[in-house]
Amino acid sequence: MANPLYDALFAPHAGKSKDVIIRSDGSRLSYEGFLAMAARMAHVLTEQGLAPGDRLAVQVTKSPEALALYAAAVQAGVIFLPLNTAYTTAELDYFVGDSGATLLVCDSAREPDLRPMAEGHGAQTLTLDADGAGSLTTRAAGKSEHFETVPRSPDDLAAFLYTSGTTGRSKGAMLTQDNLLSNALTLVEAWRFTGDDVLLHALPIFHTHGLFVATNVVLATGGTMIFLPGFDLDRVLAALPQATAMMGVPTFYTRLLDDPRFTRELAGHMRLFTSGSAPLLAATHEAFEQRTGHRILERYGMTETNMSTSNPYEGDRRAGTVGPPLPGVELKITDPETGRPVAQGEVGVIEVRGPNVFQGYWRMPEKTAEELRPDGFFITGDLATQDAEGYVTIVGRAKDLVISGGYNIYPKELEEVLDAQPGVRESAVVGVPHPDLGEAALALLVPEPGAAPDLPAIEAALGQRLARYKHPRRIELIDELPRNTMGKVQKALLRERYGQAFT
Ligand code: ATP
Ligand code: MG
Repeated sequence: MANPLYDALFAPHAGKSKDVIIRSDGSRLSYEGFLAMAARMAHVLTEQGLAPGDRLAVQVTKSPEALALYAAAVQAGVIFLPLNTAYTTAELDYFVGDSGATLLVCDSAREPDLRPMAEGHGAQTLTLDADGAGSLTTRAAGKSEHFETVPRSPDDLAAFLYTSGTTGRSKGAMLTQDNLLSNALTLVEAWRFTGDDVLLHALPIFHTHGLFVATNVVLATGGTMIFLPGFDLDRVLAALPQATAMMGVPTFYTRLLDDPRFTRELAGHMRLFTSGSAPLLAATHEAFEQRTGHRILERYGMTETNMSTSNPYEGDRRAGTVGPPLPGVELKITDPETGRPVAQGEVGVIEVRGPNVFQGYWRMPEKTAEELRPDGFFITGDLATQDAEGYVTIVGRAKDLVISGGYNIYPKELEEVLDAQPGVRESAVVGVPHPDLGEAALALLVPEPGAAPDLPAIEAALGQRLARYKHPRRIELIDELPRNTMGKVQKALLRERYGQAFT
């Protein structure tokens, strides 16, 4: 009997002495050892009473063991539910309760807090620490290295992945085996991954980028990952010579560029750098090419859809765009009011359909009905244009659109002008309540270190480039933009913080 995801990502590597993971201390874990670890954990899951389709909630520090727990869940047919390590007990209370998880695996330091909460929802707890120790590992130690893989169909759920909560409360996206597998295989092709690749993995593994995009692509090809606990500049620089590819969020690349040790010599041998989860500034793309000779490959995806578009591996990687739709993904740009496709080059909302698109939000039928059309198109909530060659340019989220005096203002249009001004490192434009206009644009500028941007000159530059109604009604300087772990600017937080700016 088959389990398509296990059969594609894990089973083919049985018995291989090749390394799947190189830890940051240089120690290595073979595929054989990894699969044995996963099988032992799968025994623990079934012994705990988890049946196929039950939910396993996991909030643990990134480690090879944590990844083996993902493999164990797939092998046991259990739905894997990874959670951001930053979530508090109160937040976990929502996720464990909402998902109906029957087992929570957490760090032992947090167990005293989390156990009573989990018990309140009828869930048990086991622990797994950063170093791989914990009650899960202790229980797994005596188990067999063989586990009879639980049969699954392509349409069976493999994961509940909660969205990042950038625009509101996180939603549990229900992802099937085939949602994950089809996307992994598409990306392997699109980005030319092979068993010879060594991926520098510095992303968290509670999010689609680090968990599914990065690890599934490596597992599907039998490659190797250098598994860093997080983005530590020194460690990344030290690991680069052994790597062939790196996947990152834009802040990884700006931080590398800020360090003079990141040179063309250090990066020259690399095959690929990809970026996603947040917009990569065209200026970063260009600076990166100047420094290293590499053009970062930017792609676009979401928790609900895995990856939907990607700049090409061969061909033109265009700065500021997320490339054309990936093979098998249908994409259209529609009018948010009517749902009809807009004229080419016009701004509309991105809709996607394909084997990558999720099954709906867990226990949110109204939200699912609002965003997932009966014909299978998912309304992403991201605004974009598409050109004649299919390249998509994201202009922002529909929820970040500023409607001022009846006019639409796309923050990105303003941000691009602001970012290009002398002394400006980056910017964010948000809409906040305004007594006359309903909402007005407020621009927040982060100066370059030691610089004092000339605000009247910046206003004059805006005047030359953009219609008056689009101009920010106020420009404020700020030390840094609030970002979450995926490098996403927290605009909702900025709207809250500056909500009284005009009142
Ligand atoms: P929530 O849905 O809970 O508000 P979220 O949308 O940030 O949170 P994710 O699924 O992690 O949660 O992120 C997907 C979003 O990230 C996309 O909808 C898009 O806005 C943004 N994104 C991803 N890749 C890119 C990219 N290359 N350029 C611009 N934005 C991107
Ligand atoms: Mg979202």
